[in-house]
Amino acid sequence: MKNFIIVIFISAIVEMTMAGVLSGRLIVLDPGHGGVDNGAVGPTGLKEKTINLELALDLYEILKVQGADVILTRKSDKAMYLSDRIAIANEKHADLFVCIHHNSVENAPEVDRTQVYYWSATDTSKDAALDILNSLESSLGLKGNLLRNDFKVLRLAKVPAVLDEMSFISSPKREEWLRDPFNIWREALALDDGILKYFDRSSKAIKR
Ligand SMILES: [Zn+2]
Repeated sequence: MKNFIIVIFISAIVEMTMAGVLSGRLIVLDPGHGGVDNGAVGPTGLKEKTINLELALDLYEILKVQGADVILTRKSDKAMYLSDRIAIANEKHADLFVCIHHNSVENAPEVDRTQVYYWSATDTSKDAALDILNSLESSLGLKGNLLRNDFKVLRLAKVPAVLDEMSFISSPKREEWLRDPFNIWREALALDDGILKYFDRSSKAIKR
């Protein structure tokens, strides 16, 4: 995995112009599922909980290099209540809560999309969701959807919060792609790009 450390630094340089927008920002990353809860399982057995965690650990490193304060709701393969996950973001007054998942659908191996959910209509969750969706679509070459849903982690959020279904692990092609740690980096970098755009936009909004 750490063979790809160079990717982080290349990315950090490329994003340097926007990187300042993350200083002083607290981002809570929440890799979905864990422990007895595998989440979705791909056609040949790849577990969603595993790649969600891998992605979150990669994104943690990238965001730290770019100057953000970052908290992971879990750093290992353990089960956690949804309410405990979002409580971390609420208690720390996070600037953004990012819940990381991979989706799955039965009997439709051709389906592979990226989806970003938000719930709150009273904060900037929708802005964050839209910026992240745009980055995921362009960086990963996937079609996507911006969706509003009262998932428990989003409903209980008192801070801007999004839930990303990065891609569909039920697609055999995608599952194979996700088995390569380099591609998990690519997903992490795509998510990072969206997070940077969101904070760049919100810092300009404050200055106005
Ligand atoms: Zn999931």
